[in-house]
Amino acid sequence: MNSAALYVHIPFCLKKCSYCDFFSVENSGRIDNLYLECLKNEAVFYAEKYKIDFWRTIYIGGGTPSLLSASQIEKLAIYLKNSCLCKNITPLEFTIEMNPESVSKEKLDSAWKNGITRLSLGIQSLNENALRAVERHCNVETAISALETVKSCWKGELSLDAIAGLPCQSEKEFLLSLEKIISYNPGHISLYTLTVEEKTPLARNISSGKINFDFDEADSQWLSGRDLLLKNGFFQYEVSNFCQNGKKSIHNSSYWAQKDYVGIGCSACGTFYGNKSFRWTNTENILEYENFWSKPFPLESEIPRSIEEFSLETREFEFLMMGLRTFEGLNSARYRKNFRFVEPWNGDLEKRLEPVREFGVKTTENPDGSKNFSLTEDAILFLNKILLEL
Ligand code: SF4
Repeated sequence: MNSAALYVHIPFCLKKCSYCDFFSVENSGRIDNLYLECLKNEAVFYAEKYKIDFWRTIYIGGGTPSLLSASQIEKLAIYLKNSCLCKNITPLEFTIEMNPESVSKEKLDSAWKNGITRLSLGIQSLNENALRAVERHCNVETAISALETVKSCWKGELSLDAIAGLPCQSEKEFLLSLEKIISYNPGHISLYTLTVEEKTPLARNISSGKINFDFDEADSQWLSGRDLLLKNGFFQYEVSNFCQNGKKSIHNSSYWAQKDYVGIGCSACGTFYGNKSFRWTNTENILEYENFWSKPFPLESEIPRSIEEFSLETREFEFLMMGLRTFEGLNSARYRKNFRFVEPWNGDLEKRLEPVREFGVKTTENPDGSKNFSLTEDAILFLNKILLEL
């Protein structure tokens, strides 16, 4: 049976956070049902085109998907589950992202009743100064109230996001905030370091001196945060991701393992791998998107998206780049199977990784005779530098 991961982009936020460079537009009203109809049509189109029997995982991200009402969450979940060819196969994982200011019991109940099994809640920080410094829409009180609502009525898996190095908070305050986040007992935590993206209001505030940002302090906070998570029984399985009892994100693991995925919605990407791999990126123009996908019989050549084909050599490098992010690492048999025609390594992963051995590469023998190669805990901190050597 043929399967793929499905990513669904909801490109609306109440207000832009100052550090954000994801595609989303401000929307303080109701999300139009037309957008959901378009998502349905687009999902059906790709399922039919690529003969996708079932969605292995579904991930509704954003933006802020919790701006959808409870009935819209129900509608969207049903549309997505019914869009593949075999409608009775349940995805292995079905995630929705929510932001604290738009969480409600009604929406959580609707998500759970309609097959959504995992909630990813964008807490980011429980420190008032830090939230204010990056213009997050919610304050600490709202974030705690959302966490309490989730604690009292969410029945599925829970992932919480936290950011190290936000301005206007000391390391001690950051750790207090992270401790509080851990106290809600999520099975999964994503811990990022604040990245200052060019052209964001945050970058402008830093360069004008309005906000102080210290890159070394941000790294130091992340390291202390990592140690706190490890001390609390979390296991690091990827550069920024930690979980308990093997509660890895199955959907995100598909990206790192270079599995096919379909992305739908404004600005979403999809990628199919093969000897000729290709990636498409949808238009960011919501009107153009809705105009196209609301009409019957979409013509493939007119889909408002850009397509990039990439060579086996590029795919090979992406395989290394994504796989080395994880502690499971790269599998030698998979490498040999997919990249035996890439010279001069011809499928020999050990030889391919030779230039970066000195940084710290761990080898694990598998029962089937293959080997997995991964970076050590210390080496993974230098991932970007290591990739330059490959
Ligand atoms: S809520 Fe998330 S997607 Fe929306 S502006 Fe903030 S960081 Fe960006």
